[in-house]
Amino acid sequence: MLIGPQNSTLHVNYVRSRILQAAEAAGRDPASVTLVAVSKAQTAESIRLAATAGVTDFGENYLQEALAKMDRLADLALRWHFIGALQSNKTRAVAQRFDWVHSIDRLSIARRLSEQRPFHAAPLSLCIQVELVPEPNKGGVSPADVRQLADAIVALPRVQLRGLMCVPPPQADAPAERAVFARLRTLLEELNADGHKLDTLSMGMSGDFESAIAEGATLVRIGTALFGNR
Ligand SMILES: *Cc1c(COP(=O)(O)O)cnc(C)c1O
Repeated sequence: MLIGPQNSTLHVNYVRSRILQAAEAAGRDPASVTLVAVSKAQTAESIRLAATAGVTDFGENYLQEALAKMDRLADLALRWHFIGALQSNKTRAVAQRFDWVHSIDRLSIARRLSEQRPFHAAPLSLCIQVELVPEPNKGGVSPADVRQLADAIVALPRVQLRGLMCVPPPQADAPAERAVFARLRTLLEELNADGHKLDTLSMGMSGDFESAIAEGATLVRIGTALFGNR
């Protein structure tokens, strides 16, 4: 545990131990679960402290905010994940500065990212965001449309489709959480059975990451449990 500016407390070790316990309870290798620290509304200094505590992956929702922090942290080797809604006028900067985009829900955005990814960079890793529980104004494609989008994205040269992502609303209890996450895992397994080679289930946030790990999450996106309330 590290004490940061404004007496904010970073709970890196606590969150890591919970990830470890959830993985072991599921009979999984804890190293198969990547912690992405969701640093929206956190300062560059807080991110630097988390990096000092060993966190390597950070998730941001808002482009301008993220770019300002990236510039201040350019001396660190961090992986940046774009996890927010992405409009077409923002794709160029995302293609240039991020390593992952988790929130792909239409082909036009994936195509722009592929066209705008610099040639000297590794392919941009993408996840398709799936709307498992219908909600107004929530991003994501419906489960029925995932396959068609996945088939189109794998044909793009400068991006690599890595897997699926979801942001379900809070569920009543752990069994209900697990049932939602199990549906994302099943969708991924179906795509792989059809020839896709996807290795990423981006699911689980502060309130439900243990359920997500129980259902196979390979990447959990955790903000408030690490940094405190935004
Ligand atoms: C904010 C956010 C998170 C982190 O949420 P917490 O509840 O703070 O852990 C994860 N994923 C997405 C897409 C987010 O927008």
